[in-house]
Amino acid sequence: MKLHELYKTKKVDISIELFPPKTEEGVSEMFREVERLNQYNPAFFSMTYGAAGTTRDLTLDLSDRLKNKIKVETMCHLTVVGQSRDEIHHTLEFLKKKGIYNLIALRGDPPQGAAGFEPHPNGFRYARDLVREVKRMNYFSIAVAGFPEKHPDSQNRESDIKYLKEKVEAGADVIITQLFFDNRYFYEYLDQVRKARIKVPVIPGILPILSAQQVRRFTALCKSKIPLEVEAALGKFENDPEGARKYGIELAMKQCQDLLKNGVKGLHFYSLNKAHSVEAVLQNLGF
Ligand code: FAD
Repeated sequence: MKLHELYKTKKVDISIELFPPKTEEGVSEMFREVERLNQYNPAFFSMTYGAAGTTRDLTLDLSDRLKNKIKVETMCHLTVVGQSRDEIHHTLEFLKKKGIYNLIALRGDPPQGAAGFEPHPNGFRYARDLVREVKRMNYFSIAVAGFPEKHPDSQNRESDIKYLKEKVEAGADVIITQLFFDNRYFYEYLDQVRKARIKVPVIPGILPILSAQQVRRFTALCKSKIPLEVEAALGKFENDPEGARKYGIELAMKQCQDLLKNGVKGLHFYSLNKAHSVEAVLQNLGF
């Protein structure tokens, strides 16, 4: 189903994010986890686009396999970093040929070590420009990224929301958020989004913590905050991965329960290619 057709009923639509593994063994393992998670009837799986486009071919290949071999609904991630318009157009044509009509259009982050984001001389500067290009093809349904704690490069949330509105006006059908651990950020953000008369669904991104080290690494990259009480709890599980995982499930479950109570239309899980925690959260929530 296309993104713009989802999130319309009372049913909560689940989506699950995957990333391209580095090895063939990792790929096989990921497909096994997909099979497990598919029992919960997610609306779609999404496949990330490695930083600076580094996994382009693999992202496209795995998206194709998910959609056409495993036959699960698939959303492909696409960024503009380091790519010309022609290259991006080529990618879009590939996705169209493979029947992958759901796409999340992103700017992407600068390569590690770079001072800031520099657009390709023949490329796009902002996600908004990619949304316009994708929309012109009149084939894709488009998601864009939202940042409850504001995007790290933004001066303030107001400017962030102004540019978010530009992405929606350019043709985005849904906003999927960066992970956060304090739902208050999401509610404040949603309030500002609605005040700006942005009407598309805003779907919260949830990361069930897998280990203390992993969540610190992940949040250092995406700049989401780990609340003090979460950091304090994680301190107890420094050398206890099983304890950390259980705590992560509990925390994600509480977050989701509260979000569902407050009427969210969907939940987007950052699975890190591991089924266990997402599965436990979904089971506990009664999916
Ligand atoms: P934009 O919307 O272009 O915004 C980037 C910055 O520019 C923001 O600070 C914004 O406020 C500012 N801005 C936007 N428009 C304007 C304007 N007209 N004038 C001035 N400033 C402007 N990264 C990957 O590399 N691969 C992935 O697969 C991936 N998947 C993601 C999935 C989700 C759900 C999310 C939330 C993020 C994902 N990211 C991914 C990370 C994302 O690419 C980065 O956070 C990136 O820095 C911002 O991307 P964006 O699409 O929000 O960019």
